[in-house]
Amino acid sequence: MTKIAVFPGSFDPITIGHVDLVKRSLPLFDKVVVAIGVNNQKNYLFNLEERLQWLHEVFQEEPKVEVGHFTGLTAHYAQQIGARYLLRGLRNSSDFDYEKTISQLNNIVGEGLETIFLISQPAYSHISSTIVREIIKGSGDASPFLPEQVKVGGAVERGESRV
Ligand code: ADP
Repeated sequence: MTKIAVFPGSFDPITIGHVDLVKRSLPLFDKVVVAIGVNNQKNYLFNLEERLQWLHEVFQEEPKVEVGHFTGLTAHYAQQIGARYLLRGLRNSSDFDYEKTISQLNNIVGEGLETIFLISQPAYSHISSTIVREIIKGSGDASPFLPEQVKVGGAVERGESRV
């Protein structure tokens, strides 16, 4: 049976921490679907099209990676595309506390859906999309935290909250 994992997130924007996690997960799965969960209540810095475009560009050389997006529950999306696994990263104990409950819920809602956690590499454990957004909003240089395909130059002028 094909082992498919969904790596769900906002990817607002995708960072080198996310990329490292996906690359390390590839030996475990036949296919990894990096999927943007769209929450209409949430304000994003980058719009969906932009975030999807970056995912496509970043993973274009990885035949096992697909890119997607969904509204509604992650567990339902996983079921729709035949994925039995979710992939998540753990950077610290706050991630653990949050992810533990979500993974238990997803296991029930997703009828046996398993979340596979990879501990962040030390070199990436300080990187988060939240911090990157703060740097961008403060007109700082976020490029050390971003894959080379992600150019965020225009974000500051565009303002901080776009869907
Ligand atoms: P969310 O909006 O659900 O918080 P994110 O896009 O911030 O989603 O992150 C998606 C996943 O990527 C989460 O499991 C998070 O722990 C993981 N992640 C984010 N940054 C890193 C990093 N630097 N190293 C490892 N995992 C990370």
